[in-house]
Amino acid sequence: MRILITGGTGYIGSHVALNVLSGNHDLFILDNYSNSSKDVLTKLKIISNREFQSAECDIKNKDNLIKVFSDFNPEVVIHFAGFKSVNYSIKVPLSYYSNNVSGTINLLEVMDQYNCNNIIFSSSATVYGAPEYLPCDEKHKIAPINPYGKTKFFLEEILKDWAMSNSQNRSIILRYFNPVGAHKSGMIGELPIGTPNNLFPYIAGVIRNKYDYLSIYGDDYNTKDGTGVRDYIHVEDIAMAHVNSLNLLKTNVKHETINLGTGIGFSVLEILTEFKKILKKPIPFKFKPRRNGDIATLIADNKKAKLMLKWDIKNDLNQICKDTVRWINNYSHGK
Ligand code: NAD
Ligand code: UDP
Repeated sequence: MRILITGGTGYIGSHVALNVLSGNHDLFILDNYSNSSKDVLTKLKIISNREFQSAECDIKNKDNLIKVFSDFNPEVVIHFAGFKSVNYSIKVPLSYYSNNVSGTINLLEVMDQYNCNNIIFSSSATVYGAPEYLPCDEKHKIAPINPYGKTKFFLEEILKDWAMSNSQNRSIILRYFNPVGAHKSGMIGELPIGTPNNLFPYIAGVIRNKYDYLSIYGDDYNTKDGTGVRDYIHVEDIAMAHVNSLNLLKTNVKHETINLGTGIGFSVLEILTEFKKILKKPIPFKFKPRRNGDIATLIADNKKAKLMLKWDIKNDLNQICKDTVRWINNYSHGK
């Protein structure tokens, strides 16, 4: 298949790109590099030993998108391009609505113009807001509590309407829980620009001695040890689910929304214990007050993913932490 990946030099997009290349598809990557580096393209070519097309392109710029579509004529779009910081989305909501929502509308309009009928979209468990029951299945109420989560919710609705607007159109929405880890090569992983807000990138900063300690936000949640519990899923398992979604698009599916999580929750302290086993030394931390808008526990019900995508988790927490450490060590040595 001819597959266009938007945001393909970003964290998740780059891992999906490698899986697409190993499946022998034709690939085109577009990115505006607002949160990634062009170097990733070279790394993808080295790891995969394959060539593919790419372009610097902002999805807000329709003329640039048209150029990509007229060059490549994709059959499927895997759409990652977007802003993803909850904090910034609260500070600059309009830029989130413009980039994520308007950008995606541009993309869908150009897809229509070029008769490209298939899209796989990165949504987030953030759309559930504070869960009313656990594990959280796809039927759970949608109640996003920040502009970032609202962009995902609005886009899910837009994609549903788009799918229904033409008998050929198909959309698959994947709701990620907490993607973490890195590629086994140690050459690609998560590299946030600026101070990270998320747990794993911050721990990476402590391991690299960029920060003295990890602040643990809250030790009094109603969880096994008082710290927040999340469903951390290896980015390679996320990537594999996209490849399996390509197969799902070949069936008579019209519009499906599918959770991507492991179904298992780990607390912040449990994550630190796992890293300690690998590093053979503890990661320094200090307890701090709860973070605004944080919830105690979020865990996925992943039955639908297992059934519809014929997919399962291959990497446990130990593998996640090992791959993270390998990536940090390589990155620290400038490889
Ligand atoms: P990322 O920031 O690493 O990747 C996104 C990529 O999109 C970046 O390379 C960025 O430069 C590019 N981009 C942003 N705006 C663009 C635009 N207007 N035009 C072209 N390119 C643009 O993020 P990621 O972690 O790989 O996430 C990918 C997608 O998955 C995002 O949509 C994100 O909201 C979603 N998601 C991520 C997580 C997570 O924890 N990483 C969780 C749930 C959902
Ligand atoms: N967390 C923390 N310190 C940090 C970042 C995160 O204690 O520097 C905690 C956070 O309170 C939550 C868990 O780690 O319980 C996961 O947070 P993250 O921001 O990575 O994911 P999200 O909350 O968006 O699911």
